[in-house]
Amino acid sequence: MPHALTLNAGSSSLKFGYFQLRDDGADPEARIVGLVERIGAGERAHIRARGPDGTVLVDEEFGRNHVPDHAAALGEVVAFLRAQRPDARFAAVGHRVVHGGPDFDAPVELTDEVMQRLAEFQPLAPLHQPHNLSGVRAAFDLFPDAVQVACFDTAFHRHHPWVNDTFAIPRKYYDQGVRRYGFHGLSYDYIAGKLAEIAPHLHMGRTIVAHLGNGASMCGLMGGRSVASSMGFTALDGLPMGTRCGQLDPGVLLYMLQTEGMSAAEIQDLLYKESGLLGLSELSNDMRTLEAAAKDNERAREAIAYFVFRIRRELGALAAALGGLSTLIFTGGIGENSAHIREKVCAGMDWIGMELDEGRNQRGEQLISTDFSRVRILVIPTNEELVIARAARDMVAERKDAAE
Ligand code: ADP
Repeated sequence: MPHALTLNAGSSSLKFGYFQLRDDGADPEARIVGLVERIGAGERAHIRARGPDGTVLVDEEFGRNHVPDHAAALGEVVAFLRAQRPDARFAAVGHRVVHGGPDFDAPVELTDEVMQRLAEFQPLAPLHQPHNLSGVRAAFDLFPDAVQVACFDTAFHRHHPWVNDTFAIPRKYYDQGVRRYGFHGLSYDYIAGKLAEIAPHLHMGRTIVAHLGNGASMCGLMGGRSVASSMGFTALDGLPMGTRCGQLDPGVLLYMLQTEGMSAAEIQDLLYKESGLLGLSELSNDMRTLEAAAKDNERAREAIAYFVFRIRRELGALAAALGGLSTLIFTGGIGENSAHIREKVCAGMDWIGMELDEGRNQRGEQLISTDFSRVRILVIPTNEELVIARAARDMVAERKDAAE
């Protein structure tokens, strides 16, 4: 059977997955997953990868300047995969593309025409979209015979009711694409599918998913479909993140422009790279570091307290938008691993029907609510790579059907 490669390009990283496709409609099997970090001129990039049983296959630093951009990183990934699996036959390459604009609500085969359309969305996601598209171009050169598929972070949210899709500014901006898109859609797609598998009756109900990682957002789902999300026009809105500010009064931007005399580029850096947990704690963007420091460091404690407060506030707002709540799901690096944050989020939430089981939470079980809790509280590790691999599989099957 052929293979699929999944690519997920961040601003200075490239995550990849090597999947075996199956022709019985079953999920693609991950054979190798890994990432290249610290891509950039003057940097020393690093490649790591593991096999399905967790075996470390590579963990190496490159020389300075060896991996100056994403195309070079992809070259290293392909060289590594070909050395590991000389028999690899890539029928498809699946790409995570952050922005699908107002139109794309499902994965799409990448053609010249689609690429042109996606390039138009670069101003909507200036830190991510250009890297995503340069990854696609590099993959076209390396795998000219493979089908190239784009999977969008925005697609899962494209059917929000209008009131959740718009801002109250003059209408012409809505028509120009200034809308509340929502992101992390691949993660929510995976979680919704997993919930349908493990608890179909819960999947039919009202669910809130808290994707808490370095990037963080929350999504309200009704019957597995996104109804509202905390992220908006860009991936800056909603919850505070590692280095991003989350929800901010737009008047603060005017203050920075007019009173502080900052340029647009300076404000962009401030909001994307210097804010969030890092900005508040003045210590780190990393939750593990903050939790370890919290005992003796008040700013670390305050940064965590703000993070938790905004999650709880968003939880109430999303429950109201859904008209109730049957399930809360934690995912992402923090949601999956920090019993402490989960406990703080759920504390005193009995008014909404949530009761955390301390033992289950500490042990990191899948179900962490008590047997009496009206709202089920679950921890489900996300798997965005698998969602991309599934789209790649479907596109390969479609092509095969069309050829027959
Ligand atoms: P990304 O958005 O980059 O994919 P991840 O989902 O990997 O991020 O999440 C990274 C975050 O998860 C970091 O803040 C990290 O500190 C946090 N994290 C990972 N493991 C733990 C843990 N055991 N306890 C607390 N936080 C953790």
